[in-house]
Amino acid sequence: MQWDNWRLLTLVSLAGFIGLLFEQMLTFMFLAALGYAIWLQHNWFKLREWLEKPKKNRSPSAEGVIDDVCRYIEQMRQQNSNRKKKLTGYLKRFQQATAALPDAIVVLGEYGEVEWANQSARELLGVRWPRDNNVRINNLIRDPAFQPLLEDPMRQGSIITVKSPIDETMQLELKLVSYMGSNRLLIARDITQTIKLQRMRRDFVANVSHELRTPLTVLRGYLEAFTDDTPPEMLRSALPAMRQQSERMHLMIKDLLVLSQLETGEKALRRVPTDVAKLLQSITEDAYRLQQYRQHQIKLDIQINKWLVCDSDEIRSAISNLVFNAVKYTPAESVITLRWQQDEDGACLSVEDNGDGIAEHHLDRLTERFYRVDKGRTTDAGGTGLGLAIVKHVLQRHGARLKISSELGQGSCFKCCFPPAIVVEEITV
Ligand code: ADP
Repeated sequence: MQWDNWRLLTLVSLAGFIGLLFEQMLTFMFLAALGYAIWLQHNWFKLREWLEKPKKNRSPSAEGVIDDVCRYIEQMRQQNSNRKKKLTGYLKRFQQATAALPDAIVVLGEYGEVEWANQSARELLGVRWPRDNNVRINNLIRDPAFQPLLEDPMRQGSIITVKSPIDETMQLELKLVSYMGSNRLLIARDITQTIKLQRMRRDFVANVSHELRTPLTVLRGYLEAFTDDTPPEMLRSALPAMRQQSERMHLMIKDLLVLSQLETGEKALRRVPTDVAKLLQSITEDAYRLQQYRQHQIKLDIQINKWLVCDSDEIRSAISNLVFNAVKYTPAESVITLRWQQDEDGACLSVEDNGDGIAEHHLDRLTERFYRVDKGRTTDAGGTGLGLAIVKHVLQRHGARLKISSELGQGSCFKCCFPPAIVVEEITV
């Protein structure tokens, strides 16, 4: 402010002094003041232009009050821009975090219209952002159980289970949460796996009681029928059946214990380098001993020289289980092939047969405890219904996967694929 006054005073005095020389002092002073006012006006005008379009125009470079105003505005702008950058950063991070959430999140407006949705909302509910911006959510989720949740304020916060609008097999848990007055947040979680586990646990308890009750009922029946007067020949004829039933119970309890040990990790893995070719050879010999009366052909197909660093007892019992199953569940004369190969799944050990095969809808459930394709035939074959569950757990402990493929009338293939970390070159000592 002071600088402006001094500048005006100096200019007018100088003009007055020059005017004095021409005896026109007042005119000169007036003209100088007028010029100064016009120059000032011009700078205010430039300032306005700069304020309106700061990127296009340059700021006026007049020293004094205008310059001060410009500097102050520039400072404010810089501060604002920094604050904006910070807020944009926070918003971006928040959006990235919610986008990465496995749960679907949809922000709903007052009338249930979509205002924002994360990536999981697309995968679980089929709500796509920004495509579905402003679309009412009940047009996207049409399950009858959802409408009351959306409309009844008393039900806000409660949880309902619905089928996913984009995948009938997916079960979702939905919850609506109110915030900031009329805004609501729809949260959806995939509970397909939890429901499956609950069903498996329920089935397991029912199955285990049923499986143990059957042989027990037979044994109790015999015991109740026996009296002091029972003829010895009747006792003798009952004994094999009683022995068979108690053996079945014994095997079942043994397998249940093995499973529980594998599951709880109670038994530590004893990893040793194992010659797979040799292991398969000895399993084949055991299988030939088992199938004494039935004529199966067991072939070995060793395509690679690799060894496995594994708990050889566990892997041996898993592969034996697959081979014995192939012997049990295929007709006489069937061909069973044990293969050790490298393919797109990695190093894999497979047991393949050309038996009757298994219908496709059973394949996913085969490794469930007590799951049987043909209950009558299986119990005749002496199975406990736990063999494949044990195989799956043994493989899981080794980081390996069991892939089952089968075709009715063609045969089945049980393929165990091992992670590269435990597959090593042949070890020679
Ligand atoms: P189990 O102790 O009864 O043999 P598993 O868990 O080993 O139980 O097998 C589950 C079911 O899978 C068996 O009951 C049988 O119906 C079916 N299965 C297993 N292996 C084969 C195979 N190679 N061919 C046909 N069916 C099979």
